[in-house]
Amino acid sequence: MGIIVQKFGGTSVGSTDRMKRVAGQIVKEKEKGNDVVVVVSAMANTTDTLVKLAGELSDYPGKREMDMLLSTGEQVTISLLTMALQHRGMKAVSLTGRQAGIRTDDVFGNAKITSIDTGRIKEELSAGRIVVVAGFQGVTEEGELTTLGRGGSDTSAAALASALKADRCDIYTDVDGVYTSDPRVVPRAAKIDGLSYTDMLRFAMMGANVLHPRAIKHAKEHGVPMIVRSSLKEGRGTVISGKVQRNDSIVGVALQEEVSVLTIHGCDGGESLILYDLDSHHIETERIRHRQGLVLIIKDQDIHLVKKIVRKYNQAYSHFDMREDVSKVCVIGSIQSSGEVKEKVTNVFHDYHIGKVSVWESSVGLSAIVDRTDVEKAARILHMHFGLDYIESKRAIL
Ligand code: ADP
Ligand code: ASP
Ligand code: MG
Repeated sequence: MGIIVQKFGGTSVGSTDRMKRVAGQIVKEKEKGNDVVVVVSAMANTTDTLVKLAGELSDYPGKREMDMLLSTGEQVTISLLTMALQHRGMKAVSLTGRQAGIRTDDVFGNAKITSIDTGRIKEELSAGRIVVVAGFQGVTEEGELTTLGRGGSDTSAAALASALKADRCDIYTDVDGVYTSDPRVVPRAAKIDGLSYTDMLRFAMMGANVLHPRAIKHAKEHGVPMIVRSSLKEGRGTVISGKVQRNDSIVGVALQEEVSVLTIHGCDGGESLILYDLDSHHIETERIRHRQGLVLIIKDQDIHLVKKIVRKYNQAYSHFDMREDVSKVCVIGSIQSSGEVKEKVTNVFHDYHIGKVSVWESSVGLSAIVDRTDVEKAARILHMHFGLDYIESKRAIL
């Protein structure tokens, strides 16, 4: 008997029928004798719909108001799912992020969890209740509502699992595990049985959005094993823990479809000011030092803010240029080479007519910037080229 944290994403709680199914999975875990804490996302498409509504009223809505708006999505789910559990005769209670003791900093829209006071949750568990917590949200010291960035319910779950010293954190989603690439883009992607925190973190940071990178950091901190599994079918899923060891050096291919490349030229002193400012807004970028200057790969969702920050320092220290509307594809793993792999990949892309490419190697693997129209093709080619394609006969031997 222990504590299990279960997280259900938007598709898994996308309708009341799905919620009934999820309630069954929760009851099953509770009936094994475990204390169960459930973390949920907003119902499928709800967050996107709310973002769209805000966009109809303002080009750049205030971040505080956006958090006030977006945090409502998760609140709908906690109450409905708790009703479904109570209807099955279970003792259950819903808690907002604030009621669950989740404290964050004040970076609206992308806040980081700073502490969790688990007192209330523990009280509810001792009273025999299943606790259903709203993911993606917290509260600042001043009592302001915050959200944790898109996909942030994973982070709520892993941070709660760490704070509660849970035995496991199960991430229920719409795929049955972590694959060697996004199975929606690369049909030959293969399911991975186990990954170390480090490999999963690299994979997630480079775009495998099946798990939020910050969630992995929280789980790693306290060694809580995570399992990514399907809420729609039974299966062992993918285990992520400190114990997993792999023989193969290449983990998979990640892609980020909507990025821009910002090159900051000759900014010396200004460079560290820009980077400090980006960090204080929790803007994550891949950074490459290049003879032309510092190159940053930025997600499109951060572009407006990044431009604002860079302009602040631009006249004093530097000038920059921006290549917008491109994509990034990345082979994750240790690539031991001094440029040969890069050359090979450049040649392969040339042969397959993938245009306007820049390729570089890093400690994470190999990354390439490609035209947005080519990114899916590029991912499939790299997946094949690095021997990751799922082949029926290979599977039979495993
Ligand atoms: P949830 O709403 O449950 O949080 P997400 O949409 O955030 O679900 O994450 C699941 C999706 O992640 C999958 O549907 C899949 O398209 C995508 N994905 C991207 N990379 C991978 C990968 N390497 N393995 C599995 N799924 C991936
Ligand atoms: N509802 C939020 C989103 O759509 C958080 C999450 O689902 O994890 O990004
Ligand atoms: Mg998600």
